[in-house]
Formats: sequence, C-alpha cells, structure tokens
Amino acid sequence: MKLWEANIRKVVPYVPGEQPGEQRVIKLNTNENPYPPAPGVVESMYAFDTDRLRLYPDPEAGILVRALAKRYRVKPEQVFVGVGSDDVLAMAFLTFFNSDKPILFPDITYSFYDVWAELFRIPYRTVPLDERFRICAGDYDIPNGGVVFANPNAPTGELESLTDIEHILRHNEDVIVIVDEAYIDFGGTSALQLLGRYENLLVVQTFSKSRSLAGMRIGYAFGSQTLIQYLNDVKYSFNSYTMNQVTLTAGAAALEEESYFKKTIHKIIATRERVKEEFQKLGFVFGDSRSNFLFVTHPNIHAKELFEALKKEHIYVRYFAKPRIDNYLRITIGTDEEMDVLLDFLRVYLKNSDEK
Ligand code: PMP
Repeated sequence: MKLWEANIRKVVPYVPGEQPGEQRVIKLNTNENPYPPAPGVVESMYAFDTDRLRLYPDPEAGILVRALAKRYRVKPEQVFVGVGSDDVLAMAFLTFFNSDKPILFPDITYSFYDVWAELFRIPYRTVPLDERFRICAGDYDIPNGGVVFANPNAPTGELESLTDIEHILRHNEDVIVIVDEAYIDFGGTSALQLLGRYENLLVVQTFSKSRSLAGMRIGYAFGSQTLIQYLNDVKYSFNSYTMNQVTLTAGAAALEEESYFKKTIHKIIATRERVKEEFQKLGFVFGDSRSNFLFVTHPNIHAKELFEALKKEHIYVRYFAKPRIDNYLRITIGTDEEMDVLLDFLRVYLKNSDEK
C-alpha cells in the first residue's frame, strides 16, 4: 500500500437508479416525471441569447430566487437555490450539522443522508420507523446535533402530518431541522407554513419531480433569513457559480406555468390512485403513498425475483437490498399507458406463478 493511501478521504458513494442505455424501456426506477416540462421552459431555452454564455452567471441566481420568492410568498432572502436538491441538501448538511452529537434520521429513508454524513464526518444515528414505516415523532425528543427527514418519505411514500412535524420542531429548537420535500407536490401539505414560527426549520424542494426538470438540476430551500445567509456563506466558500444561466432562465420560466404544473400533478395523482386499486386486486401490499411512486411487496413473490423479471421485459423499477425493505419494490408512477403495460405483465406473471 502506498503511504498516501492513508490520507485519502475514502467514501462509499450514493448509487443512483440506473439510466438504461436502451431506447425502448419503461423507466419507473428514479421517480422522474413522465410528462414533458412546461411549454414556457422550452420557449425560454429557444429564446435564450447565447452570447450571455461568455459571461459568468449571476452568483446570487437572482432571477430564479425572486421567482421562487414570489410563487411561494416568502422574501428573496429566505430562498437558497442549488444544483438539484441533492446539492442543496449537501450544502445544508455541511452548514448546519456541525455538532459532536449525532444527527438523527429514519432508518428507512433517502439513502444519500448517510453518505453525506460519512463524507462530512457528521456523527449520525438512525431512528427506526414503526412497522408501518411511519415516523414516531416522540422518538426525536432526544439530544442530537440536528434532524433530517423526507416528507413524503422515500422510498416508502408515507406522508407525516404537520402536527408531527411541529412536534419534532418544538422538541428540537436548539438544532436545525431539515424537511426534505422532494415529493410534497403529489399530495402533501408543505411545512413551509411553519417557517414563520420556527427559525430552525429548513424546507427543501426540487424541480426534478413535479416540474419535470430532473435533467436541468434545480433544487431550492426556504428558511429564515439567518439560515439562508449561513447557507450562502458556505456556498460562496465552495463554488459561487453553481447554477448556469440557461438553467436559471428555464427555472424562472417553469414557475410562470402554474396551470400546466397543476394539470401534470393531477394526472400523476389520478394514475397513482388507479394503479393502487389494480395493485390491490393483484394482492400487493403497500402503504398510502402520497408521492409519485408506490412501495410494494407481494406475499407470493420475492421482490428481487420480480425486479429481475420486469427488467427482462425492459420495465425498470427500483430494488434496495437493505434491511427491512429487501422484499419491496419502489415503482414510479409513469403515464397511464406505461402503467397498463406494467399491470398487463404483472397479471400474467402472477397468474403463472400461482399455477406453478
Ligand atoms: N430527496 C429525496 C427524498 C429524493 O428522493 C431525491 C431524488 N433522488 C432527492 C432529494 C434529490 O433530487 P434532486 O437532486 O433531483 O432534486
């Protein structure tokens, strides 16, 4: 072993869902939106003056920050933006989780949290969800260095009430509480309305899911002016120009398209509820997802086997070989047509396995 090996920061990276090279797949593995971005986003890109690419983008991302502030009725000083909510969350971990006490997050949640904790050497402790994969708010009434959870949670899709979130905030006023709302637009109530009452709350959202812009990489956070100032200080100490000019323009354009946004979300929710009924008929067991995916298990077929069988059919879903959830599949809600192909396959597959 070379001596310099000992000084290298070694990390076990987060593994994102597969982006298959093949063209004709049904891709239900990374919770992307099956519908295109709003027409105004495309128009803003065609209208973009490419001469502006000679110049550095606005480090304050003003056009996007102001558009978000207007849409969500907060002050621009309460908005932070980044390259997807992954970037925003990473910056938030680095900025706010700087205690010797462990930060807390659920044992089943977004698998990036422990990766950032390891990367930034933040001590952490996972708090078990109950047997129905729900958070027990009282479990967070213990000394800690900060709290982070996703609501709705991933990969379970379970939504926690604002009452429970407020319990966690009230019992953790000495640390920062981050609520990751990547999926909130698909049927939840945002903790944004608690912002006025809790200076230690950071609410993180994304354009990747409900606004069909995963490829653009836009995430944002709302918090008190003090928290956003601290986040910006860290960002400017790392990379001032995180958001490129095309992205800033397209992101601001997306926020102008409220009716398209609502229409797309309603379509996904309607499909989700229909698929829930069909999955129930097929014997799947799952919670009441309020996100754009379902987290399902089946009493007769192991999830891993089904995952492989679906992949052979060019239907990609997500399987996590992890404790407590290694017999579950996370299935993104696609278009009605895509979900019908999935359902047709499952009907035949389950029938054949019954007859074996
Ligand atoms: N939080 C959760 C819970 C997620 O599932 C994801 C998507 N992988 C993200 C954050 C990050 O999404 P993005 O960086 O695309 O905004």
